Amino acid sequence: MATAAGASCPSDAELVRLRDAVPGDAPPELARHLAECERCQQRVLFGAGPRPAKRPMPEWPTPQRILLLALAVVVALAMLLVSLQRLAAVFR
Ligand SMILES: [Zn+2]
Repeated sequence: MATAAGASCPSDAELVRLRDAVPGDAPPELARHLAECERCQQRVLFGAGPRPAKRPMPEWPTPQRILLLALAVVVALAMLLVSLQRLAAVFR
């Protein structure tokens, strides 16, 4: 049901406007064209216009924070083992 890609396809800017439109508030003629045109569906899904900027990778925590977290994990494990030992002694 794909129509041939023709000169009637909207420009990249129009597709970007359609993509960023509030749902239900898109220009009807663009939405109608997009519903029928496979080429424009692919353009909208896989690249028309500039893509939104990627979020930067989060920074690594400082060595002090890593050490503090590791220490907290070790202390929590030790406390868990101690309480398990006490519980085992109660039910022995
Ligand atoms: Zn089209």
